[in-house]
Amino acid sequence: MNGMSESSTAILLFRDDLRIADNAALTAASKSGANLICLYVWDDRPPFAIGDAQRWWLHHSLVSHSTALRKLGSPLNIRVGKTEEVVAQIVAQTNADSVFWNRRYVPHQVERDKVLMAQLQRQGCTVTSCKGRLLAEPWDTLNKEGNPYRVFTAFWKCLQRVSTIETPLYAPTSLAGSQLGGNATVDKLGIISTKSDWSEGFHQHWQPGEDGGHVGLEKFLDFGVYHYGKGRDFPSLAATSRLSPHLQMGEVSPRQILHAAAQLLFSGKLLENDFKKLHSELAWRDFNSHLLYYFPDLTEQEFRPYFRNFPWQNDTEVFSLWTRGQTGYPVVDAGMRELWQTGYMHNRVRMITASFLTKHLLQDWRSGMHWFWDTLLDADLASNTLNWQWVAGCGADAAPYFRIFNPMLQALKFDPEGSYVRKWVPEIAALPTRYLDEPSSAPPPELAKAGIELGKTYPLPMVGHKFARDRALATYKSHKESADQKSCGII
Ligand code: FAD
Repeated sequence: MNGMSESSTAILLFRDDLRIADNAALTAASKSGANLICLYVWDDRPPFAIGDAQRWWLHHSLVSHSTALRKLGSPLNIRVGKTEEVVAQIVAQTNADSVFWNRRYVPHQVERDKVLMAQLQRQGCTVTSCKGRLLAEPWDTLNKEGNPYRVFTAFWKCLQRVSTIETPLYAPTSLAGSQLGGNATVDKLGIISTKSDWSEGFHQHWQPGEDGGHVGLEKFLDFGVYHYGKGRDFPSLAATSRLSPHLQMGEVSPRQILHAAAQLLFSGKLLENDFKKLHSELAWRDFNSHLLYYFPDLTEQEFRPYFRNFPWQNDTEVFSLWTRGQTGYPVVDAGMRELWQTGYMHNRVRMITASFLTKHLLQDWRSGMHWFWDTLLDADLASNTLNWQWVAGCGADAAPYFRIFNPMLQALKFDPEGSYVRKWVPEIAALPTRYLDEPSSAPPPELAKAGIELGKTYPLPMVGHKFARDRALATYKSHKESADQKSCGII
């Protein structure tokens, strides 16, 4: 019974950890021997209320999680409101004397959890918060001076030192829990956005929920992981895990992924290089979370101070062409359409499309970040923010601003057969591969043969590559010079 009487009651609060297996808070609550009240509160307050695509995922994930909990014997109680008010009311109603949850790291959520913890302690409850979302805690990866690392390689070394590859926690086979009166059903929450029916197609590509996460992990372990090191940059290969939406909703833990891959490594089936690469990508996820944890302003403000007040051009028409995949650059359009139709975009193409928006089009990285926030099923405040800043050149350890992706060369290198572009930009699919990445370079008879009328069936490039590159470099140079002069007190 681990110190609790049989009549004690514990609340197990689920948030972005909708899984049964390897769930430290669930394991701790179940071991306490208390009668459990499994609780989910639909509390969608700003800032950064959950985006539209992810609302679709959350709805289905909750359906799956509540079915799994019911089977174990502890139904999920679902409420709507401010978490602290709902939890206080349930503590008062049930005389619960303990509350368990897994920790979150997004700054405004951390603040809310601190308030909730203080309030529960005033109500006489013990609170147990557990680690489950990241490989390491932000306070365990500080440098010798006690500051967060700003460079990934140093962070990565530290992470490997402080976090070992642990065995995930087993899923309990039963849970003793109660169903309270006054619950909402998932359907009644109205989580799925009614703005448009665009998310209907997501079902073809995804299975939200813990079971779906494990199917995805098994699939990755069967094939993709063996090609990860070299193949992860090629968007038409199934060489990445596509587990990001499951990780974001906590249906799969990073520890489960790492441990499963480590088993293949230790048995000699997986090469060290593929394993290390996967480990380091999961480490980037931690790095981003840790940085946002320590620098909460990053969602609004550039990490590198001299980028603040950069002369971004906020042109709604230009932005709209980018969002709709109508830029006239096939690989950019392919990525933006993949995102719209599936709620996902391959990492290499996220970099190409983000670079195109911020450098070729000089649009503010924040506008791109907000678009991704609304349309990505894996939208994660830390990874989205920090990756946008990385691409735009203004983030921690970012790609230098003057490294401007050439979309044609990127496509040539990472989509050499053109399969990715042909899939998402079917109106140019009949072009021979050598013209596919730049249809305007095709001779008129080739265009005619492929049924393409540039400017009508497929757009002309919205901006010339050389012009855009020179403009971006000149804008950056003059902004940097004026920022340097200001910091020297010259102007
Ligand atoms: P895999 O290659 O299989 O990697 C395994 C896991 O490692 C991923 O699921 C993810 O959790 C993590 N990971 C991999 N690459 C990165 C990375 N560069 N940064 C952080 N974590 C990483 N990822 C998100 O999860 N949410 C976001 O909102 C998000 N926004 C992004 C925005 C931009 C502009 C860019 C360039 C990248 C963004 N990423 C984001 C990172 C990356 O693109 C996705 O994590 C990855 O494409 C997910 O696919 P996967 O699961 O197949 O990845």
